[in-house]
Amino acid sequence: MLGRGPHKPLAILRHMGLLRAMRPQRWRSWHSCAEQRSGCARHPLWSGPVSSVGGTRQSPINIQWRDSVYDPQLAPLKVSYDATSCRYLWNTGYFFQVEFDDAHEESGISGGPLGNHYRLKQFHFHWGAANEWGSEHRVDGHAYPAELHLVHWNSTKYENYKEATVGANGLAVIGVFLKLGARHEALQRLVDVLPEVKHKGTQVDVGPFDPSCLLPACRDYWTYPGSLTTPPLAESVTWIIQKMPIEVAPSQLSAFRTLLFSGHGEEEEVMVNNYRPLQPLMDRKVRSSFQATRMGTRS
Ligand SMILES: [Zn+2]
Repeated sequence: MLGRGPHKPLAILRHMGLLRAMRPQRWRSWHSCAEQRSGCARHPLWSGPVSSVGGTRQSPINIQWRDSVYDPQLAPLKVSYDATSCRYLWNTGYFFQVEFDDAHEESGISGGPLGNHYRLKQFHFHWGAANEWGSEHRVDGHAYPAELHLVHWNSTKYENYKEATVGANGLAVIGVFLKLGARHEALQRLVDVLPEVKHKGTQVDVGPFDPSCLLPACRDYWTYPGSLTTPPLAESVTWIIQKMPIEVAPSQLSAFRTLLFSGHGEEEEVMVNNYRPLQPLMDRKVRSSFQATRMGTRS
């Protein structure tokens, strides 16, 4: 269905069909190998020198639960989004992204680890070819099948998003893990329009949309100083990673995998594995807004 040439269904098989056909015993040993291989051929973004940028606070990272430090000073995050500022959803050629009008102050976040108010600019997702991986961050080495990023910029210190991107304390990104489970009704509104943005560079209106409906009910989080996970990889991001994942149906995640990295008229490449590899923690502490009740608790 996706392919127009004889080689194209093979590309899809490589990403999905083959993986599903694996027997569980073989799967375990094949998994890391497959992931590694898919990582190498993931996207031109991570095959060039840009993936080995020097830096001291790069993202994503593996969050070690036992090494994170509870900080009682961390207040709850204040989230207030204006649904009417939602502009459109588009295929960037790397993931799909929902854009917001950031000309006004009211739609954004404050509190938590943030000293200023940050305006919502966009949100997007990262996901894998299979359900065993796809998130950028990991928790105790565990990868979720997908991760949502809500990107905000510091409108107290900076004039616009572009300036904030490369400035100190310029950006704040909320990360939300997706796990398989019940169908997510709010997400379905986006899933419904994905067929219209199958190709790179295409866009579609989604109408008013309040992305706070994509946040988990429990607002416990980890926070650490990091970077963008796509070029320019600027080290301007305060990461706020939600402890609890949200649930999405397998069919909703499958819909993500029907998108293409490629544009109209180009050889079709299925949009999967659009996440950056883990980066070293180096000299950083991950703080948590919650006290761990027992080791290794994970949903
Ligand atoms: Zn992202």
